[in-house]
Amino acid sequence: MHTHTPRSSRSALPRQSPRTRDRLGKELPKVLFISCTESRLAPQRFVAHPDQIYEVRNIGNIVLPYNPRIVSGDIATIEYTLTLPNLSDVVISGHSGCTAVAALLAQKSVSSCMRRWLFVGNSRAASREAVGARIGAVLDAEACERAARAHLLTQLANLAGYPGLESGRRGGDLRLRALFHSSETGTTDIYSPRDNSFVPLTHQVAGAAR
Ligand SMILES: [Zn+2]
Repeated sequence: MHTHTPRSSRSALPRQSPRTRDRLGKELPKVLFISCTESRLAPQRFVAHPDQIYEVRNIGNIVLPYNPRIVSGDIATIEYTLTLPNLSDVVISGHSGCTAVAALLAQKSVSSCMRRWLFVGNSRAASREAVGARIGAVLDAEACERAARAHLLTQLANLAGYPGLESGRRGGDLRLRALFHSSETGTTDIYSPRDNSFVPLTHQVAGAAR
């Protein structure tokens, strides 16, 4: 069908508009927030504009390694969201006391379905390494938290392999962050790649003006 829309670009998609909106006229999200189903952490606490979030939640805040050949709602959602021109921040959050991490450490028995899900997250080795040789023993909260942080960083690495994030992060205009929330202390840390460690979060992480 012929259209009289005066657009010089050959693309049918409006891109790079300062306020790009969806089909209902709402502004497209600026933040992709990935977290565990169990997490009591509200993503809205960490972003400047709570109505600009796309959320992905699953048990264990797992990011499947990018693979366009398998059927996965999470992969499709993340891949799609990364194409949105307004997106400025990608945040993945983990938490203490996570059932998924407890299962990775053999501290909790789970269903075969859950075991397979954890397997594809690729963090079993990193989580177990974080607690050393004490697998099978009863682990204290500190050891479990160390494993949960290692698990989170593995998911962050998985995320970094998605189109647009794997190299150059869309020309440097997309920020990728990892948050860890400790329910015991009520505190939230942010991962600092420069220091390769977690530091206390003192500010909003996403959607704020640069
Ligand atoms: Zn969890």
